Amino acid sequence: MTPEEFRSAGHALIDWIADYRAGIAQRPVRAQVEPGDVRKCFADTPPAEPVDAARLLSELEQHIVPGVTQVQHPMHFGWFPSNASPASVLGDIASSGLATLGISWESCPAATELEQVVCDWLRQLTGLSDAWEGCIQDTASTACLTALLIARERVTDYCESRGGLQGEDKPLVVYTTAEAHSSVAKAALLAGFGRDNLRLVDMDPQTQAMSAPALAARIEQDFADGCLPAAIVASIGSTGVTAFDPLAEIVEIAAEHAIWVHVDAAMAGSAMLLPECRHLWNGVEHADSISWNPHKWMGTILDCSVFYVRDVEHLVRVMSTNPSYLRSSVDDEVTQFRDWGIPLGRRFRALKIWYHLSIDGIDAIRARLRRDLDNARWLAAEVGQAQHWRVLVPVQLQTVCIRHEPPGLSGAALDEHTLAWVGAINRSGAAFMSPSQLDGRWMVRVSIGVEATTREHVESLWKLLRAHAEEVAAG
Ligand SMILES: *Cc1c(COP(=O)(O)O)cnc(C)c1O
Repeated sequence: MTPEEFRSAGHALIDWIADYRAGIAQRPVRAQVEPGDVRKCFADTPPAEPVDAARLLSELEQHIVPGVTQVQHPMHFGWFPSNASPASVLGDIASSGLATLGISWESCPAATELEQVVCDWLRQLTGLSDAWEGCIQDTASTACLTALLIARERVTDYCESRGGLQGEDKPLVVYTTAEAHSSVAKAALLAGFGRDNLRLVDMDPQTQAMSAPALAARIEQDFADGCLPAAIVASIGSTGVTAFDPLAEIVEIAAEHAIWVHVDAAMAGSAMLLPECRHLWNGVEHADSISWNPHKWMGTILDCSVFYVRDVEHLVRVMSTNPSYLRSSVDDEVTQFRDWGIPLGRRFRALKIWYHLSIDGIDAIRARLRRDLDNARWLAAEVGQAQHWRVLVPVQLQTVCIRHEPPGLSGAALDEHTLAWVGAINRSGAAFMSPSQLDGRWMVRVSIGVEATTREHVESLWKLLRAHAEEVAAG
């Protein structure tokens, strides 16, 4: 491709993206394909002749878009807000265009240093003290794995430099709850702790937050049984119901026994941009590591997860290997982010945060988050007042967990009813929500916070919910 061909295909693509975003509300929310439908649009063998960019653009529209669940759609209320502000998209494009090689400071000093700058901006914007230093990881899953690896090495005084976990005589234990994201269990298993040593601590039945007394009791029990408590992963905004584990109490319990505390704030970290929400992570200054995803509610396009630690020296000691071909004369003066995580080659992700914060501005981002909190409170109040509808968990942020409970339905029959009405709405393409289980029964999570979602959309969702659920109930 010549530079001129690139320029013209690039302009066409940007125009297409701008139109696509502007018209997204006219499309169905959920992908309207069956398994295998997208695959069969494509030849089994690679293209023998070059295909021109204009034709690809039309195939993009024809074959790819129908297979996209439109998470930027204003009627998307599924999973979590996966916002991708157009300003951050520009930063992402700049990153691709620059095509840097992030394997060391030397391979792209700008990538390292802008990453330091934007992580520090986000630190300040979320009210964290300057005891924290951060980097950008691809996802919160990777950040949690990194946290558990460095927790493991702290409690074993660097077992990696001896026989590793295989040389330890006491089982190392990790604590979290059943409400924690699946990536926490995955990280614990991959970091070698083993399922037998992953404790799902009891929760408060009302809020689904970790019970601090249950945690303290479990730790005592484990010590008595000859185990070594290693790490606690606290959910600050859990996946199912956006529950907040009592961090202030957790860090106090952890401090008594020098147990690592990782704060998984993947979704709710964006709320910490609002001073009025920061009470939800009281105690955070005494944790050991934190991660949250600007690529969720805040809206810096995926993938973009920030990971902060207090003890950088420890992190680097665990994660670094230092082969001769990566050493340079300035190593003593610079940060090598390859030593802050698992991958060697790293994308220039700081550009998208820089673009996002600069072009959109923090005031507009904060106003949008407040709008969403307000919309969630509005919906919770409506549902709470409506006959046979219930808000199942107190709403602390932007997730509203609801159920339609018509008289006479309970147990499996109620589950069937819930799945029937939410399934009908999701299939229709008019809106999308994720059903989820709470105490073994299905409910519907309405996760508010797509950049395009206004009060009007939430009002029309509520009408849609009532119409479908009440129609299904009437048979
Ligand atoms: C989304 C989410 C994760 C996983 O995030 P990834 O960045 O996709 O790995 C982890 N924890 C919580 C609480 C989440 O909401």
